[in-house]
Amino acid sequence: MINEKSKDLPSSDAIDIPALKEKYRQERDRRLRKEGQQQYVQPRAEFSNAYEADPYTPVTPRDALSEDIDIVVLGGGWSGILTGVQLRKAGIGNFRIIDHAGDFGGVWYWNRYPGLQCDNDAYCYLPLLEETGFMPTKKFTDGWEIREYAQSIARQYRLYENALFHTLVSALRWDENAKRWRISTRQGDEIRARHVILANGLLNIPKLPGIPGIDKFKGHLFHTARWDYDYTGGDQKKPALDKLSSKRVAIVGTGATSIQLVPYLGKYAKQFYVLQRTPSCVDTRRNSVTDPAWVKTLKPGWQAERRANFHRGANESFQKGEKDLICDIWTEVNRNLAAEREEQDWPELTPEQLFARYEDMDFRVMERLRRRVDSIVRDKATAEKLKPYYRYQCKRPTSNDEYYDTFNRPNVSLIDVSESQGVDRLTETGFVANGVEYPVDCMVFASGYEVTSDLDRRWGFDVFEGRNGLSMYQNWKGSYKTFHGVMTHGFPNLFVIGLNQGGLNSSLTVNFEEQARHVAYIIKQTMTRGGASVEPTQEAQNAYVQHIRETAIDRTEWIRACTPSYFNNEGKPDVDENGNEKFRFYLGEVYGPGWDVFMQRLEDWRSQGDMQGLSLSQ
Ligand code: NDP
Repeated sequence: MINEKSKDLPSSDAIDIPALKEKYRQERDRRLRKEGQQQYVQPRAEFSNAYEADPYTPVTPRDALSEDIDIVVLGGGWSGILTGVQLRKAGIGNFRIIDHAGDFGGVWYWNRYPGLQCDNDAYCYLPLLEETGFMPTKKFTDGWEIREYAQSIARQYRLYENALFHTLVSALRWDENAKRWRISTRQGDEIRARHVILANGLLNIPKLPGIPGIDKFKGHLFHTARWDYDYTGGDQKKPALDKLSSKRVAIVGTGATSIQLVPYLGKYAKQFYVLQRTPSCVDTRRNSVTDPAWVKTLKPGWQAERRANFHRGANESFQKGEKDLICDIWTEVNRNLAAEREEQDWPELTPEQLFARYEDMDFRVMERLRRRVDSIVRDKATAEKLKPYYRYQCKRPTSNDEYYDTFNRPNVSLIDVSESQGVDRLTETGFVANGVEYPVDCMVFASGYEVTSDLDRRWGFDVFEGRNGLSMYQNWKGSYKTFHGVMTHGFPNLFVIGLNQGGLNSSLTVNFEEQARHVAYIIKQTMTRGGASVEPTQEAQNAYVQHIRETAIDRTEWIRACTPSYFNNEGKPDVDENGNEKFRFYLGEVYGPGWDVFMQRLEDWRSQGDMQGLSLSQ
């Protein structure tokens, strides 16, 4: 056998799919909140470790800057770093990277909570491995190693020379006379840049639930993206949280962050409450240390091959005879299907038949994951509450070997707050859930980020104006309108990395790298041709958007049926410019024909060499 089916995978006959569908519907319906995204608030100054402060690097006072420059890149996380790398490779040097943080790393800079690891195969996720010769120490490697690797790339490509840290952009205005972007920052800088590249990430702005009384709590409170080791004890490399031994701690949220963190809080806190609204699915981790003998077998091009294999496993389907090289939770459905195809020697299937088998496997995998809970958690009522009832990937699938076992500890209580759609309220001394008050010393919020909220909340710039004062927030209200997913009409010399109105690769960093390569090409061409500004024509943009929509795979039913979260805009549809309801998927409008076809499209466009669809002005 080339691929092995998961151990303990139930057969289709062993589960009642119509009954499960009904259960999934009920679970979604009772969680839908009429406020949608508005149920969340931003961490404000009065919270300890609020959004703007940097608990990790002291802020060095500096004079405000006034300068003219070719390019400003907003963001020093993976997308900003990979943009810097591509600009360097294109021979462009006059750029500046601006970031709110005190160093490079983006989410890996801000997130330092105990247990933080990459949830994806690090041999795929970490970029430029063949170029830098770096190898992660583990398959799912530690957060600090990722941060240090990101910073080493920044050093290798001399990105520190251009970095402006601890700087928050407040306004972006296009100046048509000067043909430049005017960038203002909270630090008083005035920068005039020919081009702006937004590489400000998906998970850049933490959010808190708008729980009544959240600003009344007098104990310690922080978001997971601002971990307070002074309070908990330990540090990121040795997270022995010994200062919690006398503390009662509660965590709000049970998403991917919380799954990694809960075992540590359970182990160290005197009393620990996990406040759960929707359970995640948690598989075994099967992490492994990198084997030097395996590394020696790798041939040039191995990373691209591995990433392509992962992408097929996570997002498309394995080819006949293709082995799953990753074998994790992301590739499980397709691995099982590949194994059954081999075992049963399926005839050629129509897309509809394939889709039906995929759906069936989705229910079986989720059932396997629910049974896993029963096999570990001793208290039956707690086990029942921990079971996820929704389609695979409605929430980010996770893996952890200690999460469920944490609920067997006598100091740990799971508090299900799904009936009340969240925690009732906070008091000065604790929280109230299901009408009962629990005194606690510390509240940890693993409540996520502004991923699919409105753009002004997500980006946080007070002003963002293109030509003739057109607001970007208005421009993209309801739906993105881009050319190749990276430019938009009315906003000359502006490029966006990370948003998707185009191909989607399962390794996030591959998307960033390819978008950055494309953007660097356009900027280089514009400069070579003596262009002062470049932007898509309205016609080219319309044609591109139409093509994306005509070829899209309609996932509306799946998105609508998911339990609410940022994946589906909290279950609330947007209304587009034609008055149609549209369910927003957090990864944007994904190109239906797939990643490889999209890459070929961009490649063909570049090799044509005429910048078709873009208008250059001198
Ligand atoms: P999420 O947005 O995934 O989870 C937020 C949690 O807070 C949910 O469980 C949510 O419940 C809960 N919540 C929100 N409001 C309330 C409320 N009023 N009362 C009780 N609970 C509430 O955030 P995470 O930080 O976990 O993850 C964000 C993203 O970060 C991930 O999806 C992933 O992309 C990334 N990540 C990546 C990792 C990696 O290894 N690469 C590791 C960890 C995170 P509900 O589900 O009901 O809304």
